[in-house]
Amino acid sequence: MASVDSQRRVLSGMRPTGKLHLGHYHGVLKNWVQLQHEYECFFFVADWHALTTHYETPYDIEQSVWEMVIDWLAAGINPGSATMFVQSRVPEHAELHLLLSMITPLGWLERVPTYKDQQEKLKERDLATYGFLGYPLLQSADILVYRAGWVPVGADQVSHIEMTREVARRFNHLYGREPGFEEQAEAAIKRMGKKTAKLYESLRKRYLEQGDGEALETARALLRDQQNISLGDRERLYGFLEGGGKVILPEPQPLLTPEAKMPGLDGQKMSKSYGNTIGLREDADSISEKIRTMQTDPQRVRRTDPGDPDKCPVWQLHQVYSDEATKSWAQQGCRSAGIGCIECKKPVADAIIEEQRPMRERAKRYEEDPGLVRSIIAEGCDHARDAAKATLEEVRSAIGLAYD
Ligand code: SF4
Repeated sequence: MASVDSQRRVLSGMRPTGKLHLGHYHGVLKNWVQLQHEYECFFFVADWHALTTHYETPYDIEQSVWEMVIDWLAAGINPGSATMFVQSRVPEHAELHLLLSMITPLGWLERVPTYKDQQEKLKERDLATYGFLGYPLLQSADILVYRAGWVPVGADQVSHIEMTREVARRFNHLYGREPGFEEQAEAAIKRMGKKTAKLYESLRKRYLEQGDGEALETARALLRDQQNISLGDRERLYGFLEGGGKVILPEPQPLLTPEAKMPGLDGQKMSKSYGNTIGLREDADSISEKIRTMQTDPQRVRRTDPGDPDKCPVWQLHQVYSDEATKSWAQQGCRSAGIGCIECKKPVADAIIEEQRPMRERAKRYEEDPGLVRSIIAEGCDHARDAAKATLEEVRSAIGLAYD
């Protein structure tokens, strides 16, 4: 199936929404920071995706892009470890999107759950557009253009990855059958050396004749470890293993990320549209003020009234930020009226400010030097483009569009 690079590659993106908040940090960025050390990561600003819903008001996209990239850097994404780039600067996304659109049945797009949901939710916008219907396919192109093996998603987004897998399968089925495929695969087997070739053949036989999944995995691992075959041969042999053609676009897998519930200042999920956010680079005074004026248990009117943490949004923040000792101090103090709300809020405010301190410090350098941010992105775009070009070369040649 997938080549070595695919198995190590992660692709993830974010729409440019301007300055990010702690919900983005806990829900996405913290995970990205971790992944950048474990995989070859491509993180992109999905500016074309922003246009699928905001085509009438694109004015602030550009500013939002830079603010968001500074937040990524502030959160700890390291340009030395991960590739950060802007989608529209890599036109290969659009080319692959177009080519995939030729083979994607309309029904696949219409049945994507978010298609109808979003149209319902964003009623004030006219989303009966070609671009909006096609956005899940643009997402597929975003992933497949890098032959990324892994895409970090929450459980509710697994169906998006499933569609990408179907599109890749269909593409490989239609175009992976180059003339003389079997002969080329046989020749590639020989090139691995006698011993490895024999092992490959027997594992393939075990899989094809007995459906032995373990044999398939072992054979894939065997191919991954081969140093002496070309990338093209490796892909042929991945495809040959399963009795199919060459794998041009490997099927990505969802990399399930645990859902991080970051409550907002009002206890609902933190979201810009609820106006309950704390910014990722917000200054300490403003954070203290926001926490100080936060709603608490409405039953606790006077300091002497006992309260119920379960009815208080501050308690939800304790659950994210406090250790066990602080949590039980808050629980007991609240229920017995032993502590006041201002007292109870203090450790939460302190913890948030402390969490953000390194982020604010990192951001400073980039805020003061916008040229530096632009050069990081320019470099990321170049690197991403090289990877995307390599895929498109194979894609064009498989379809029969390589004219040189
Ligand atoms: S003491 Fe703490 S948990 Fe209890 S109502 Fe006040 S802020 Fe909320």
